[in-house]
Amino acid sequence: MKVDFLIIGQGLSGTFLSFYLKKAGKTFLVIDDEKPNAASRIASGVINPVTGRRIVKTWKIDELMPFAFSAYKEISEFLKIPSCIHEGAVLNMHTTKQMQQAFNNRLQNDPSDYIRLCANEDNWSEYFNFEFGIGETYPVLIINLFDLLRNWRRYLMNSKYLQAEHFEEESCFREDHIIRYKNVEAKKLIYCDGASVASNPYFNKLPFAYNKGEALIVSIPKLPRDFIYKQGLSMVPWRNEDLFWVGSTYEWRFPDDLPSASFKERVETYLKNNLKLPFKVVEHFSGIRPANSERRPFVGFHPIYINVGILNGMGTKGCSLAPYFAHQLVQNILTGTLIDKEADINRFSMQHFD
Ligand SMILES: Cc1cc2nc3c(=O)[nH]c(=O)nc-3n(C[C@H](O)[C@H](O)[C@H](O)COP(=O)(O)OP(=O)(O)OC[C@H]3O[C@@H](n4cnc5c(N)ncnc54)[C@H](O)[C@@H]3O)c2cc1C
Repeated sequence: MKVDFLIIGQGLSGTFLSFYLKKAGKTFLVIDDEKPNAASRIASGVINPVTGRRIVKTWKIDELMPFAFSAYKEISEFLKIPSCIHEGAVLNMHTTKQMQQAFNNRLQNDPSDYIRLCANEDNWSEYFNFEFGIGETYPVLIINLFDLLRNWRRYLMNSKYLQAEHFEEESCFREDHIIRYKNVEAKKLIYCDGASVASNPYFNKLPFAYNKGEALIVSIPKLPRDFIYKQGLSMVPWRNEDLFWVGSTYEWRFPDDLPSASFKERVETYLKNNLKLPFKVVEHFSGIRPANSERRPFVGFHPIYINVGILNGMGTKGCSLAPYFAHQLVQNILTGTLIDKEADINRFSMQHFD
């Protein structure tokens, strides 16, 4: 089998990279072992335009949000599935007086496109205990990652563009103009391997700072599904049932990637204290975000092995960054347009590639 590209991984990065290569008429084979707790499979799927206590806009968000909205709509249309992206709002139930004041000051002194007061605050007391009012973030984008990844995988498999297996480095041989892997010959190899990059021989010296996150999937049949509820933890509508994703943690030091009893206990206590509706925990996830200290993606081709590339480092923001930088990488391949210099891996010195 001869292809233009061999792609390792079908999380968000590999999905959008293969989508844009397909659109460009390139041939490829994706190899993916469908790790059940890969970040893309357990993420809540939210694109939130603001962050932190100071409620600042996230990097490039004015560009990333409209791009992401069109990208997810386009891939849904291609797959002939209902759109896997929709607009919603975050109801931020302030947990302290100070947080309420910070939100209101921000709204008064520096009104942004993305925050506003909650119009009908009292209606929410039927569902939640809250003391310090509600501020809204609007719009946010919510993505049904489950449908997207499953349907794109099905399309790739039916078209023989995907091999469901673990990619074994020791079976891959790189020459100047060709990559050989078992019965496959490819012109270029691109890794979209998420946190598994830790054992990647070409890119494992890039400054990744892996970050563990956990979430519970909770059935709450009576809670309206058009909002994300935030009160310390976030509750995000999950798939198309009566489920909510509740999380998360951001751990920089961790012994393993397994779900912990302490997280489950903490979230159950949180729900008992904050939610006025009956709930039932149905699942507990835990996985590793492919994050880095710069909070910028890692995109481009290896400076020495120029037919080996990477699309990774999406950190906590893969839903918005992966489509945008997959597109940028494909444009770079097709026409030589430059990759954003904050994301291009060639910003790193050679010691990161030894
Ligand atoms: C708890 C949690 C919540 C999150 N919530 C959000 C959110 O709301 N919004 C947001 O924007 N981001 C969120 N993120 C971050 C987001 O999930 C990641 O940035 C993004 O999913 C990374 O996608 P990726 O495709 O680069 O990597 P991954 O999703 O890790 O995908 C890598 C793929 O490669 C495959 N693979 C790896 N190695 C091999 C191999 N050797 N052989 C075969 N296959 C291989 C894996 O099976 C996997 O399918 C969250 C992450 C976590 C953990």
